[in-house]
Amino acid sequence: MTSRNDTLFAAAQVVTPGGVNSPVRAFRSVGGTPRFFARGSGARVWDADGKDYIDYVGSWGPLILGHAHPAVVQAVQAAAANGLSFGAPTEAEVELATLLCQRVPGIEQVRLVSSGTEATMSAIRLARGHTGRSRIIKFEGCYHGHADSLLVKAGSGALTFGNPSSAGVPAETAAHTLVLDYNDTAMLEAAFAREGDKIACIIVEAVAGNMNLVAPKREFLDACRNLCTRHGSVLIFDEVMTGFRVGPAGAQGLFGITADLVTLGKVIGGGMPLGAFGGRRDIMQSIAPLGPVYQAGTLSGNPVAVAAGLVTLQQIAAPGFFEQLSARTSRLVSGLCAAAKDSGVVFSAQSIGGMFGMYFREHPPQSYAEVMQCDVAAFNQFFHVMLDDGIYFAPSAFEAGFVSAAHGETEIDATVAAARGYFEKISSKQA
Ligand SMILES: *Cc1c(COP(=O)(O)O)cnc(C)c1O
Repeated sequence: MTSRNDTLFAAAQVVTPGGVNSPVRAFRSVGGTPRFFARGSGARVWDADGKDYIDYVGSWGPLILGHAHPAVVQAVQAAAANGLSFGAPTEAEVELATLLCQRVPGIEQVRLVSSGTEATMSAIRLARGHTGRSRIIKFEGCYHGHADSLLVKAGSGALTFGNPSSAGVPAETAAHTLVLDYNDTAMLEAAFAREGDKIACIIVEAVAGNMNLVAPKREFLDACRNLCTRHGSVLIFDEVMTGFRVGPAGAQGLFGITADLVTLGKVIGGGMPLGAFGGRRDIMQSIAPLGPVYQAGTLSGNPVAVAAGLVTLQQIAAPGFFEQLSARTSRLVSGLCAAAKDSGVVFSAQSIGGMFGMYFREHPPQSYAEVMQCDVAAFNQFFHVMLDDGIYFAPSAFEAGFVSAAHGETEIDATVAAARGYFEKISSKQA
């Protein structure tokens, strides 16, 4: 019998490229049919066939309170009843901007946009406009949305400028982006020694979450900060994923490093389309209407999205929120590691705040090259067994996972038990 998921996927492929509105959703790297979701509540989602799953994707990060949190739903309904959009300022935008300025280190002024991609694209334009320089530095394996200048991979030599990583990106655009290795301080220093005075900005995920999870080396983040200061370049921390996810003050708060500009998204919209970029007042004042850098948006500061964001940020400010979220996430990670160890399966995992990485290799990776050494086939098998067992991990070996406040010990322990059963089965087969 064909499932409703199969039927929907077939229909979707007729009218939408690959059947999806964002590529990873298509299950290309793990194979099989993507699940079409009909409903979510707390830590669980239900697919089109009515099967339920414990969800560790959380819409790729935003749903830190879980699905359909009553307070968020109510705030969204109330805002919607008062009008969906005005294209004019509202009081709630002032409230959200004020909260972001209070809670995010280094944000003196902030502008709201509708996605993480818009936030990073605008922050880079701003850094270029403010410095009068064209070149930017990014790191292999970090993802900053899909603006042209960021869809770039390393050139042939370590310090040569980048090549497009997507068709449709002009080589001339990519040529302004230098792509270096994450956590490689010496390579970064060499780049600045060579052309520091031409570099508009570094954009970096201070905790990398788009090549699975890679923790930063302290000296690497310090070098990013110090080199930008010394050379008059703008340091952009892309905290679209890590903001209000790894801790109450994001990665900046964890490492005690303040960037010049910070980009936000995901959690700050509570599941609605909302992004933001903000930072030093003198830089932010280069934006129109005050300055020469253009940036705008018909739906920017959308009242329904802002309402979802505001109530989400209020909820996560509850005392002990991040302590509990971190404890739950590390309970998951240590449970998985212990289960793998007991069965002799080559596996490692780690968590930072409410995000985690799982790796089919001996130790958590520290670089993009090490991430690439993970056993993708082993992950794909694990993924499908877990999926059948009602546990929804991200459908790719190269994505981070997310735990929400709605994930209780029951869900975490059920997940660990399912993984333990699988690890035991594969190890007895090998024996
Ligand atoms: C998700 C993400 C983006 C892009 O955000 P969208 O809302 O998908 O456009 C940018 N940077 C980082 C670090 C992200 O994780």
